[in-house]
Amino acid sequence: MKRVLVAGAGGFIGGHLVARLSADGCWVRAVDRVEHEHRELPADEFLTLDLRDADDCRKALDGGFDEVYQLAADMGGMEFIHSAECEIMRNSAAVNANMVAAAASAGVARYFLSSSVCVYRDMAPDESPLTENDAYPANPHNEYGWEKLYAERMVSAFARRHGFEARIGRFENCYGPYGTWRGGREKAPAAIARKVAEAPDGGTIDVFGGGTTIRTFVYVDDLVDAVVLLARSGEERPTNIGPDERVTIADLVNVVADVAGKRIEIRAVDGPLGVEARNFSHERIKALGWTPRHDLRSGMAETYRWIAEQVARA
Ligand code: NAD
Repeated sequence: MKRVLVAGAGGFIGGHLVARLSADGCWVRAVDRVEHEHRELPADEFLTLDLRDADDCRKALDGGFDEVYQLAADMGGMEFIHSAECEIMRNSAAVNANMVAAAASAGVARYFLSSSVCVYRDMAPDESPLTENDAYPANPHNEYGWEKLYAERMVSAFARRHGFEARIGRFENCYGPYGTWRGGREKAPAAIARKVAEAPDGGTIDVFGGGTTIRTFVYVDDLVDAVVLLARSGEERPTNIGPDERVTIADLVNVVADVAGKRIEIRAVDGPLGVEARNFSHERIKALGWTPRHDLRSGMAETYRWIAEQVARA
């Protein structure tokens, strides 16, 4: 039986990854500094640890693992990324430095790092797709992206020097049930689903800048498929994970309004917008056999159903 460690298991994507690996028959140790807020995890063991601490990282890795999935990070939507840049650079860098060093000492076979397309520069709306190599010369739009780029380089260096396999997924915007949907750290799909759930039919919701920026959104089950596929593949290079479908934030509002069966107007308000546009090549992940199973509408239907339930209960 494969022994796997999921760090950041109390979070949105980590929780889904634990469920998937456990269903696949792996023995799973889940680690986070907090328990999952929204679900019981089917892990074989859950350890509450602060992975900024080197001793806690050693405890996380104690016992030997075939695969380590490192998803712990100080993470949030654009409002959080904009305001918490010091916490992100300090905490996530400490987690990544201590985790990869502990994994090297423990002799793990494979180490997966959750990176982000925030490592790329901003783009114009009509630009052709950026490939993974276009992360250099580096010019990320925010400090979260710089920390991810540094973590990528650190994990690759440790893998070279200590002889383990490192895999790096650059995640695009991920959405789905069991994620943060209120409180300031929620990302755009969850925030919009919450606002639509709270609005009456014919109501108006506030959207930063009116929703003209362009994004891609990957449904969490599809992302987790890609993570496991990439982690076990021979692809040593950083790999973008997201669908080709590109939409504006206003399009996303329309999709959510449609699945909710409501007419919704957008009111443009001031707020951090992030980059203007995204467009990435997915040839590398597709070459491994990955195809997303959900389009934005079917994924948002699942997500909206769950968030509307949370709103009704709150
Ligand atoms: P999340 O915030 O839901 O989960 C991150 C988890 O890490 C949290 O449960 C948090 O408690 C834990 N964590 C943070 N610091 C810790 C520490 N010091 N010790 C132990 N645990 C700690 O975020 P998520 O959306 O599930 O993201 C998972 C990973 O994927 C992160 O690395 C994130 O940067 C990356 N990513 C996510 C997205 C997205 O759209 N959600 C996009 C790109 C990259």
